Amino acid sequence: MFDYDVVIVGAGLSGLLAAKRLMQASLSVKILEARGRIGGRILSVHEGDFDLGPTWFWDNQPYIRRLMDELEVEAYEQYETGLGIFDRGAEMLPQRFAPPEMPISYRMVGGMQQLVDKLAAGLLTDTVLSNTAVSTITLNNNTIIVETPSGHYRAQQVIVTLPPRLTAATVQFSPELPTNVTAAMQETQTWMGQAMKAVLVYKRPFWREAGLSGLAVSYVGPVQQFHDATPADAHIGALFGWLGNQSAGRSLSLAQRQEAVIKQATRLFGSEAQAPLHYAELNWAAEPFTTNGRSLLSPEAEHPQYGHLLLQQPQMAGRLHWASTEVSTVNGGYLDG
Ligand SMILES: Cc1cc2nc3c(=O)[nH]c(=O)nc-3n(C[C@H](O)[C@H](O)[C@H](O)COP(=O)(O)OP(=O)(O)OC[C@H]3O[C@@H](n4cnc5c(N)ncnc54)[C@H](O)[C@@H]3O)c2cc1C
Repeated sequence: MFDYDVVIVGAGLSGLLAAKRLMQASLSVKILEARGRIGGRILSVHEGDFDLGPTWFWDNQPYIRRLMDELEVEAYEQYETGLGIFDRGAEMLPQRFAPPEMPISYRMVGGMQQLVDKLAAGLLTDTVLSNTAVSTITLNNNTIIVETPSGHYRAQQVIVTLPPRLTAATVQFSPELPTNVTAAMQETQTWMGQAMKAVLVYKRPFWREAGLSGLAVSYVGPVQQFHDATPADAHIGALFGWLGNQSAGRSLSLAQRQEAVIKQATRLFGSEAQAPLHYAELNWAAEPFTTNGRSLLSPEAEHPQYGHLLLQQPQMAGRLHWASTEVSTVNGGYLDG
């Protein structure tokens, strides 16, 4: 009487990787995904070259490197050659500085989207059902019933890969989960649930020719920090910027914000920054399938402690499992988690 051995809720990195491993073990799997696309917090735009979600991984993250090897996704080092710029205030000129040595950050050739596209390509056709938000998970006589607006699915096991705080706010459980488990979910910050990124694409990375690395820390304009976001082969140039949680730029219209970001980039990197080929941005705080209202009350200043003990344990008589990055005890929050 089961439709599938396992139903997975969410087609982000965690859900897609779980599906791959379960299929390798010859289990039947269905992924129900609320968005009209796969990837969740991973999103690369303009032919995959520019990441509006995650950008980097580091040497102390073995799992992501192993997965990249398995999927044949290549890495390259973040461009850090040259001087950074510090823009302290509108009344002073931006200053150049030699950035301190930091651990090497790596990016993925073709963007992070490579990871999820390759994972999805390795699954059986129709494994992922998109535009299907799960509303309720019920345990009924040793059967898990996963309900969506367009139908329900019966499975032996269910794996939930949503950020725990989002799960607590948007998915009903019957019978209800223990109150301490729900509290643990509500307490767990959604990593980067507040983040907002903007990307400027240019014909070439012209700042490199001026001896600049693309790094800029700024208090003048909507972007707090710029980085070089140029693809590995540098056939085109790009900068990306973080708009801080308190950035006044967040309340501007898209057109006003685009103008302000370009003006800021021009102040920092020179007149060539005035005419980008493309501008793209994403405010993850406004993404209902990543974050929810409550996240807005607690800006993420530091990397939280993830992997809550209660979220390591299955629920619903051992048939409900958690698998988002936030429940990982190793590098939780990151792709590696
Ligand atoms: C701007 C930004 C920058 C980042 N930078 C980095 C970085 O540089 N390095 C790094 O390692 N990590 C970074 N991260 C974190 C990284 O993106 C995450 O660790 C990773 O993508 C989490 O994957 P996941 O599958 O666990 O969760 P998610 O990607 O959130 O997947 C959950 C999935 O569930 C779906 N969903 C939600 N609600 C429902 C529902 N009711 N029913 C069905 N499906 C639902 C969502 O649409 C989504 O596809 C960044 C994240 C952001 C947003």
